[in-house]
Amino acid sequence: MMIVAREALRQVVEAAEAAYPAECCGLLVGRTHPNGTIEVTRAHPSPNLGKQPNRFEIDPRLWVDLSRALGRGPMKVVGLYHSHPDGPAQPSAIDLEAAWGEELVWLIVGVSGTPVEGGEPRGQALQVTAHILDLGGRQFRELPLRTADWHAAPVRALPEDGERKKDDGE
Ligand SMILES: [Zn+2]
Repeated sequence: MMIVAREALRQVVEAAEAAYPAECCGLLVGRTHPNGTIEVTRAHPSPNLGKQPNRFEIDPRLWVDLSRALGRGPMKVVGLYHSHPDGPAQPSAIDLEAAWGEELVWLIVGVSGTPVEGGEPRGQALQVTAHILDLGGRQFRELPLRTADWHAAPVRALPEDGERKKDDGE
């Protein structure tokens, strides 16, 4: 299971749409719980250093800087994300070939182009999936994915105490 903070997921989806028709990429920071659940709390965008279309390459400096800033934890780099413009949200053969980092989660956003009258098509994210890399087996395994506030009630939408009192008095 992978749990992603809603804000981090929004950031990844927006980056994928903004980068269209190119690929976006970045790193995911969070922690692994004792039960194996991987929690992502933050997304860190990287410039895509890939030299070819349909390739991505995360800036190695981002990785080094993040790892240094995070120190001994408990938060660490738990995964990476990238987008598939006009492709499915599934790891490609190229991904598997280039894959590194056992136990890293790969978050993949499938993006399609929405026609825009008189302009270039606009990227629209269709699906986000998570996969974990098993280098021993040389394969990806899909992980169930949900946002951190999946079942949270919108309690914050209620007025603050002060406001409510004021309203009562009127
Ligand atoms: Zn890919």
